[in-house]
Amino acid sequence: MKDCLFCKIAEGEIPSECLYKDDQVYVFKDIAPQAPVHFLVIPRTHIDSAACIGAENSSVVAHAFEVIARLAGEQGLDGFRVVSNVGESAGQTVKHLHFHVLSGRDMTWPPG
Ligand code: 5GP
Ligand code: ZN
Repeated sequence: MKDCLFCKIAEGEIPSECLYKDDQVYVFKDIAPQAPVHFLVIPRTHIDSAACIGAENSSVVAHAFEVIARLAGEQGLDGFRVVSNVGESAGQTVKHLHFHVLSGRDMTWPPG
């Protein structure tokens, strides 16, 4: 999608620290990490948020979670948190579906 930051990152138009990519997803380090490990998993096709997941695009979400599980295993992550903020009130600042993967420190619940 034109003028979407994460579409541009997935296309390589804007540089990022890529950890993994394939034909469906792109994985890169968050520019402002909130934990020792903090990376983002995004579909290469534009989806606004998790509120827009339906039968027509949910296969990429399943794939994203397979990739998350594999990367967590490869990185030896003991425990990790997967977060997807939906809408401004929940803290979504980039309107392209993304899964935060956070690890490397103790985390509290509930989140703020
Ligand atoms: P949200 O606030 O939408 O849940 O998450 C957006 C995330 O994208 C934030 O954690 C923010 O630090 C990250 N981010 C914003 N712009 C960039 C960028 O240009 N490069 C990278 N690598 N991360 C970004
Ligand atoms: Zn996009």
